[in-house]
Amino acid sequence: MSSSEFSLIKQYFAKQKSSRKDVILGIGDDCAIVAPPANSHIAISTDTLVAGTHFLIDADPKSVAHKALASNLSDLAAMGATPSWVSLALTMPEPDEKWLDGFCQGFFELADYFNIQLIGGDTTKGPLSITLTVQGTVPEGEALLRSGAEIGDWIYVTGTLGDSAAGLSVILNEQSDTKPHAKVLERRHYYSQPRILAGQALRTVASSALDISDGLIADLGHILTSSNLSAAIDVDAIPLSAELIEFVGCEEQAQKIALQSGEEYELCFTVPETNKGMIETVMSHTGVNATCIGQVGAGSGIKLLKQGKQVEWTLVGFDHFRKVL
Ligand code: ADP
Ligand code: MG
Repeated sequence: MSSSEFSLIKQYFAKQKSSRKDVILGIGDDCAIVAPPANSHIAISTDTLVAGTHFLIDADPKSVAHKALASNLSDLAAMGATPSWVSLALTMPEPDEKWLDGFCQGFFELADYFNIQLIGGDTTKGPLSITLTVQGTVPEGEALLRSGAEIGDWIYVTGTLGDSAAGLSVILNEQSDTKPHAKVLERRHYYSQPRILAGQALRTVASSALDISDGLIADLGHILTSSNLSAAIDVDAIPLSAELIEFVGCEEQAQKIALQSGEEYELCFTVPETNKGMIETVMSHTGVNATCIGQVGAGSGIKLLKQGKQVEWTLVGFDHFRKVL
């Protein structure tokens, strides 16, 4: 990009309201410099959103920014980390002030809420895509890993599941936007709330955790394979929003969607029997519910149960823009 176009873009990203004391040098030099706190480890995660794959090219830039940052923050939440710094690699066909205005609004609103500072990035010309690298801190040795689940541990999820897939089906015009709660569900697809407080609260209580980006079945599979274990899930225990049930018109169909819905950004975690009684207390100040949906067992695979009896539902993992409804 030409230097004038570039300075135009840079101007947008140097405007964050809040700044952190541990950022020694932010945007403007060859590198940013940060001062990590003592006795902490740094958790780092990168994700890319490509127009046409992860969001529609004409989607509201404010929602795209929220979705991009929220999905990255969700990875920090899943480790029990506290967000600190973020960098942004932005590729766009040409400088588009209106798009940048909207994008920055959505980005900084969420960044300021979680006190994460944009410390640098890169700007290039090409098909629209957004890559974020988030960094957070976690007390030494306390990060929540995918491995660590053991036989007998209880399986939990935060919030409710399935709204994101339902919202996506509205965005893609597969479902009519006149159906009940279509607009609410569409908004939930873009505006997930990273479970940062929940992740922090679970650090000393959960044996493993991850965030649900590919669908509960697929993601729980990651926890189980990393510990060579199986799971039994009570499908009637899966938390569903009233909006989702009304939108699809049938509870069983809503359960199937909830098992496969990706980009939920809720946490799925396991808890040893000895810590089960603490869950309600540690979650009480996080603003989100956690629901026990099953238990870890020996062997491999995921068994779905309804009133104690196994059900054979054909389920698939979530693929961006693929129908699950
Ligand atoms: P260099 O050529 O040394 O990589 P750049 O000209 O790409 O430097 O960037 C100059 C400064 O602006 C750097 O501090 C960089 O981190 C920052 N920057 C560039 N693009 C972005 C962006 N999209 N978001 C945030 N900071 C950015
Ligand atoms: Mg550069």
